[in-house]
Amino acid sequence: VGKRAIGIDLGGTDIKAGVVDDQGKILCKISIPTQVAEGRTAIIRNVASAANLARRKGGFAWRQISAIGLGAPGVVEYPSGIVRHNPNLQCLLGQELLQPVMDELDVVGMSMTLDNDANMAAYAEAWIGVGKGRDTLALMTLGTGIGGGLILNGDIWRGAWGAGAELGHHVLFPDGVKCGCGSHGCLEMYGSATALVRRFLETVASGKRSPLATRARKGAEVGARDIDKAAKSGDKLCRNLIEETGRFLGIGAANMFNILNVEMVVFAGGMTASGKMLLDAIRAEAKKRTIPVAMKGAKILFSKLGNDAGLIGAAGYALKQARARKRN
Ligand SMILES: [Zn+2]
Repeated sequence: VGKRAIGIDLGGTDIKAGVVDDQGKILCKISIPTQVAEGRTAIIRNVASAANLARRKGGFAWRQISAIGLGAPGVVEYPSGIVRHNPNLQCLLGQELLQPVMDELDVVGMSMTLDNDANMAAYAEAWIGVGKGRDTLALMTLGTGIGGGLILNGDIWRGAWGAGAELGHHVLFPDGVKCGCGSHGCLEMYGSATALVRRFLETVASGKRSPLATRARKGAEVGARDIDKAAKSGDKLCRNLIEETGRFLGIGAANMFNILNVEMVVFAGGMTASGKMLLDAIRAEAKKRTIPVAMKGAKILFSKLGNDAGLIGAAGYALKQARARKRN
């Protein structure tokens, strides 16, 4: 019988949890509200209860679960396990997250692992996703910001003390838009879904015309999805903005290839719904800027795991850690 783990993806809005087998197949999953406003104790209780709900939904006893993996946003400092730099879940800052969850679950001897959510998603890609079988890859999740995960030599690269792989914060424009991290001109201020909307509104304000621009001027609220839809139905302004997003992300990918010689850069998140229009622009720009020997054989792909990548990766990485602990 194969091993199973519970993977948990802690987000600012929801907590997703599922029981995943050792082939990366989700056997059952649930989602509950994080209840950020209720504070730290409630979040910890909810994380533990998500794990329990997922387990019970699949009808598994604790002895049938080998490990639990938790992916959380922000920086998880190593080896202390203290949560740092977490704009969406500020109440978790400065304290450990894993031990309180373990105490709440009260499962003796369970192997538990905590890591950054994008690191977990990157692990999922290398384990069973578009990067299956690859030893090195970089992942960028395109959402409100840009999350980053790195797999080097088959393992998560978290850096010297956990602050590594913040790929959304490498700088494209030294005097660019101010970023939440304190710097200016970070990739996430140009290539994220939030950035697409901001750039659209700037373009509209500068007087450029298009069907969606007209609707925005009349007061319609415009999201990244609307811009994508408009681009696909022939709105040139929107199409240009998405292709420009592709250029920015292509520079991001080229930097990964040139610095790390990763085999693959994977993009995930809602923006990948733009499909070929975005992907072609990323690929073209990356090719222009990558040293040919680093580009040779390298791939740029969109994730196919969707919203489940975080929990699959958390479960898979927890199983890997449990195996490693057993050997030691
Ligand atoms: Zn930044």
